Amino acid sequence: MLVHEISQVREHIKEWKKQGLKVGLVPTMGALHNGHKSLIEKSVQTCDKTVVSIFVNPIQFCAGEDLDKYPRTLQEDVKLCENAGVDIVFAPSPKEMYGEGHILSNDFLTYVVPPYFYTDKLCGKSRVGHFDGVCTVVNKLFNIVQPDFAFFGEKDRQQLIIIQKMVRDLNIPVEIVPCPIVREESGLALSSRNKYLSEDDKIHALALSKILFNIKNCYKKGVTDVQALSETAYSFLNEHHSLEYLEFRDENNLEEKQTADESTVVFIALKLNGVRLIDNISLR
Ligand code: AMP
Repeated sequence: MLVHEISQVREHIKEWKKQGLKVGLVPTMGALHNGHKSLIEKSVQTCDKTVVSIFVNPIQFCAGEDLDKYPRTLQEDVKLCENAGVDIVFAPSPKEMYGEGHILSNDFLTYVVPPYFYTDKLCGKSRVGHFDGVCTVVNKLFNIVQPDFAFFGEKDRQQLIIIQKMVRDLNIPVEIVPCPIVREESGLALSSRNKYLSEDDKIHALALSKILFNIKNCYKKGVTDVQALSETAYSFLNEHHSLEYLEFRDENNLEEKQTADESTVVFIALKLNGVRLIDNISLR
């Protein structure tokens, strides 16, 4: 069932809670693909009721980013959700979430701001304020849906770690369920932004997963020096790629690693024809 208003969601939640049903939430920005579907299926398996939110959250986009052209495919998304057994698709307007004038008066919104240590690195370095926008909207969604479980993809691992931290720090009564990255057979991690890529771009985009798989292979063969592991990336990069970062960080607190170990996650971001792509891999 497609619902646009917060008050409608609340009515259903109230009824479900009265019946003692477990509620799962899958927050998304829509343009749903099999990566999203895996989160949705996990929720449907784990919970009595599943809510999928579809909201292209304006306050998590920085100036000059793709807010206006971000793919919006609500009809297809609703079909995917219905077929997967979702109970409510919550697709609010920006006005429903932030009220009139939200875009012009962001300053007047109460924000949830995660610690700088977690947001000054990786994606947060180039996307200043992005994680404030993410935490604010996720917090609002938690308050609206009051889920017992919420499902997040490891595809956006910095986001996942920051949300886990927020939930701990603010004692939010929800269990965060991390879900593995879904990839194409080629290795390319599924992403709504892959829609921006031409067939040629998609071939060049394989560099991300190839670099990560190769690093993991080298690590499993005994190479632990981060400098040496980083240098293996260059043979996969060419003039089409503009590397933003390749970093080795701790899976729990994002601290930088000099020596790779089982708790290391390798994060990569690059631009390809103006499209920013991210990926990561755990060395475990
Ligand atoms: P988005 O719509 O991009 O905001 O993503 C919504 C949720 O789906 C986030 O928790 C993402 O991490 C997750 N997600 C996106 N792509 C994938 C993927 N390829 N595999 C697993 N989860 C994903």
